[in-house]
Amino acid sequence: MEYLGERIYGHCPVPIQNLLMWRYGSLIRKERFGPEYDRLTAFLARSEWFSLDELRAYQEERLRLIVAHAYETVPYYREVMDGLGLTPADIRRLDDLPKLPVLTREAVAANLERLVSTAVPRKSLKKVHSAGTTGTSLYMFWDAAVGYMNNACLWRERRWAGIEFGDPIALMLGRPIVPLRQTKPPFWRYNRSWNQYLFSPIHLKNENIPHYLAQMRRAGVVALDAYPTSAYVLARFMEAEGEYLPLKAVFTTSEPLLEVEREVIEDRFRCRVFDGYSQSERVMFTSECEKHAGHHIYMEYGITEFLDDDGDPVADGTVGRVVGTGLHNFGMPFIRYDVGDTASTSKDACECGRGLPLMGDVAMRAEDVLVMPDGTLMPPLMVARAFKLVPGIVRSQILQSVPEEITARLVVERPLSASDEEDLVRNIAERMGPEVRVRIEYVDDIPLTGRNKYRRVISTVPLTWGGTTTANLYEEEDAARRKREDDPPDGVPADIRSGGTGTGGNGDG
Ligand SMILES: [Zn+2]
Repeated sequence: MEYLGERIYGHCPVPIQNLLMWRYGSLIRKERFGPEYDRLTAFLARSEWFSLDELRAYQEERLRLIVAHAYETVPYYREVMDGLGLTPADIRRLDDLPKLPVLTREAVAANLERLVSTAVPRKSLKKVHSAGTTGTSLYMFWDAAVGYMNNACLWRERRWAGIEFGDPIALMLGRPIVPLRQTKPPFWRYNRSWNQYLFSPIHLKNENIPHYLAQMRRAGVVALDAYPTSAYVLARFMEAEGEYLPLKAVFTTSEPLLEVEREVIEDRFRCRVFDGYSQSERVMFTSECEKHAGHHIYMEYGITEFLDDDGDPVADGTVGRVVGTGLHNFGMPFIRYDVGDTASTSKDACECGRGLPLMGDVAMRAEDVLVMPDGTLMPPLMVARAFKLVPGIVRSQILQSVPEEITARLVVERPLSASDEEDLVRNIAERMGPEVRVRIEYVDDIPLTGRNKYRRVISTVPLTWGGTTTANLYEEEDAARRKREDDPPDGVPADIRSGGTGTGGNGDG
């Protein structure tokens, strides 16, 4: 929201905030739509039906462009390729990609400025911060082209669900658009330019949720785009109240979608969930189609490899580390970037008939919902973002066992200065409220939990829905999984599930 000046926005009355949102929406609309967006949209509508060979030919054409550009204008790649005795002529086919090393998040952090193209004017690039899978702070740049491409992919995902630009949509993602200290409705703002209602992801509690649902009904929204945890909170609340809110689609992104979440959301919103996955690094974009047989990999967006620990491709149907090459960001190219998540490849063709291949289960971060002292349920990402602007943090984890206190566990590459520590505590307080105590604990390592998942947010505080109480998310999911494993439905192996996450989010429109 850099056009607005977030601090000024936060102090304006609601009607002015709506006007600012309209103006901001109009500016962003210019940035993401236009002749190039139209061209890409028309192309994507055709290319989704391409054969695998045609899609690969397209990828190789783009790969040659981006590698030549990186070699000529990006100091980091020039050094790496010169060091290996490679020139762009050596990287012409998909099979040539393994000649280049995998780019780790650590290498990106150590070479941020040297990964930016010297040929693209800096003021034409958009700077973005990413908290990343392991809670490490990073920033990156996007050029205009990748902005159009990302938006065209986002709207293809929505079209697969029957949603067009201009349809009234509810969004519950991203930056806090309603100040935390606000205690009365409206807990939403309206972006007239996009016909989108932006609902606050940080005011979800039993007293407030009826206002959310009433406004969604009043506005006649046909779809919801939200973190899985936010959509889940609304759905669980409706379940406790015996309510429904029929929509055409719910889009989820940025966090893993658990099976318990999908079930309750689909039940209460009377529609299917379309899960999507992407990252700020813009190397990969996937989403479900109307058949929900897994995630389609958007091959036009990037090249995806699934690798084992030795860096070799894994066999079809097995799980590998996800490594992506973005095909559209010439401002800061990411070539063979290790995303930090694992996913399984799939050889199955989707019933929809599209040529885009399917990806199986994404295994990644696992997060609980945080509970504030006044009962507000906070999406984990909103708080995890507090870490992203503090340098020197290698890994972070938030622990909560009572609503009044959270512990931030940190692995650091160097001790944080007193002012960095203060910044961090303030960032967290801005998201959780000043009454929550924040303890910082330095540790040598944050181990993975069961099923090899890195848990960035762990809360053991139970969740209350009107008169009923459930365990926090992961306990709930584990219980449901144990039940499924004990008693699998006929013919369906218990381990076939779908899911997805992304640190950048498909739904940042
Ligand atoms: Zn499909």
